[in-house]
Amino acid sequence: PIDPWHIGGPVIKGFGRGSKVLGIPTANLSTKDYADELVEHPSGVYFGWAGLAKRGVFKMVMSIGWNPYFNNKEKTIEPWLLHDFTEDFYGEELRLIIVGYIRPEANFSSLESLIAKIHEDREVAEKALDLPSYAKFKGDPYLTK
Ligand code: ADP
Ligand code: MG
Repeated sequence: PIDPWHIGGPVIKGFGRGSKVLGIPTANLSTKDYADELVEHPSGVYFGWAGLAKRGVFKMVMSIGWNPYFNNKEKTIEPWLLHDFTEDFYGEELRLIIVGYIRPEANFSSLESLIAKIHEDREVAEKALDLPSYAKFKGDPYLTK
């Protein structure tokens, strides 16, 4: 178990790679208010709850890190909300409670193996978030206030 991390901020534009290259949209969170915590935070794949005031609370699986496959220069926070949205939500305030850790950040020899691993991560997150000790955070007012 990890100490739940509460973070929030507007959804910003990333490189547009999530949806287009991977088929997996990741809402990039502005990290300017978290720069210090972010450098300290171990990279890896985490799961938790994501809130958008106008839309509700959703399960999410996320990476914190440099995305070695894409050789990024900046550490990012990128949750994949496990819900089918009919429209984008750039600019909206996104609130996250990160409750669990899945694995360290890794590099992959192919895009296919990266995508397959992310889908495995999604299944782990979906199941874990139904456990009472993780499910209880879904109702936290931080997510939508
Ligand atoms: P970017 O590189 O700009 O983050 P992506 O291809 O990763 O672009 O797509 C992410 C964007 O798609 C989000 O900012 C959000 O507006 C939208 N989006 C739609 N559905 C989802 C979802 N299920 N999870 C995360 N973002 C989503
Ligand atoms: Mg993205």
